[in-house]
Amino acid sequence: MITGAFEAVGTANFNPEHFFVDLQLDKTNPEISRNQDSTDVFFAHEMGHFDFEKRLAEQYPLIAQKHSVVLELGPLFEDVIQVMSPFWSDPSCETTGSDCHSQMLEFVQTDLLYATYISYNESKRNFFEANQVELERIESAALRYEELYADLFAAVFYENSEIILTALRRVYPEAELDCRSFTKQMPKSFIAETEHCELSLARPAIWQLVDLASQQKNKPA
Ligand SMILES: [Zn+2]
Repeated sequence: MITGAFEAVGTANFNPEHFFVDLQLDKTNPEISRNQDSTDVFFAHEMGHFDFEKRLAEQYPLIAQKHSVVLELGPLFEDVIQVMSPFWSDPSCETTGSDCHSQMLEFVQTDLLYATYISYNESKRNFFEANQVELERIESAALRYEELYADLFAAVFYENSEIILTALRRVYPEAELDCRSFTKQMPKSFIAETEHCELSLARPAIWQLVDLASQQKNKPA
């Protein structure tokens, strides 16, 4: 998931070579202060996605294009919701021929903002249609790495290999979640049910590298 909203609540910079995450969260923002603990951890995971997507876009111009197509529409959509809400909140607008319905039709035919939104939306649809195969090829190959990266991002930020596991357990106490740990070695026969766990067998080895990097960082010069 990538949205411009992330930029409004924090900035992230993950240096995977040195396993260092610089994550600045604006905790006064209601989006993230709603439920401290797990929400913050999930937010860090999402920031990991954001950072991964940024890197993917550097490698693949098509992904960069996708981000700008999607991001352009976000704020515009919010504005459209605002101008349309008087019509959408009036149940009589659903009836063809009603005053409200006629006013709405007139409005959408003449309003510039609405017209801009419709034309952006159409170019977005055309973009996805024209590039569907190539986008799916890149994204389906990247997905399992992206989920691993997002978990690692959060774990490195909190300097806690089990932070994701703990946060998830609070919300889903019944679920089988060991595959999100960075220290528990899953059996070789383990088959992942979701992309979050597809690279689980590699997690403990990756965390050893994180440990090693932090030992070197803390070594007296
Ligand atoms: Zn994720």
